[in-house]
Amino acid sequence: MSQSKKAVFADQLLTSGEVEELYRLLETHMPGRTPTAKGPKDQPNPFRSCVSCMLSAQSRDENTAKASQALFAIAQTPQAILMLEDEVIAAAIKPAGLYNMKTRNLKKMCQYLLEECDGVVPSNREGLMKLPGIGRKCADIVMSFTFGEDVIAVDTHVHRVSNRTGLAQGKTEAHTAQNLEDRSPDWALRDGHFWLLEFGKTVCLSRTPKCDTCFLNHLCKFHKASGAAK
Ligand code: SF4
Repeated sequence: MSQSKKAVFADQLLTSGEVEELYRLLETHMPGRTPTAKGPKDQPNPFRSCVSCMLSAQSRDENTAKASQALFAIAQTPQAILMLEDEVIAAAIKPAGLYNMKTRNLKKMCQYLLEECDGVVPSNREGLMKLPGIGRKCADIVMSFTFGEDVIAVDTHVHRVSNRTGLAQGKTEAHTAQNLEDRSPDWALRDGHFWLLEFGKTVCLSRTPKCDTCFLNHLCKFHKASGAAK
């Protein structure tokens, strides 16, 4: 994306009527929340969901799965993880990368859970974000997938689509998540993550967005700015 195009549309947001229309179109064209939707929900409890989500930072899905599997094969509770030597944890989670930092965060998270939360994972965003290693994205993913809350978790795809279209603005995924929540109608919160994610993976691709055939191009700020810049 050129700097000039960024400058043209960076300060533009869709109107509330356009936001409604955009979500209606996404609802029509994209799959919503399904029982097989990806996420840490496959983990059998909130603790394992949090751990799996924390391990996923800068890691491919398949590597996160390998690391989670290896770790949970040797320890499944905060108490059991705290009993392990750092080297043992690091070796187990190595496939997910950043294993020394993740080992430290994992132990801090387990300690915090036991000391401050009676070992119970909080079910709200504020509580989840107090856990070491859990940021806004992880908190929202756990809330959405594990606790079934109507929350749009913002990953790189949702962040990109939101900012390009003018649905929301934010320099970081966390900023976009807050702006998106403020600007989205309640009815779109349940499936919004799934629509935007799939749209970002299939239409609004990072390097080569399919703007000419995109069903949102009459609304999209990026597309309008691209036309104006030609
Ligand atoms: S018009 Fe292009 S940039 Fe805009 S949403 Fe569609 S694919 Fe993405």
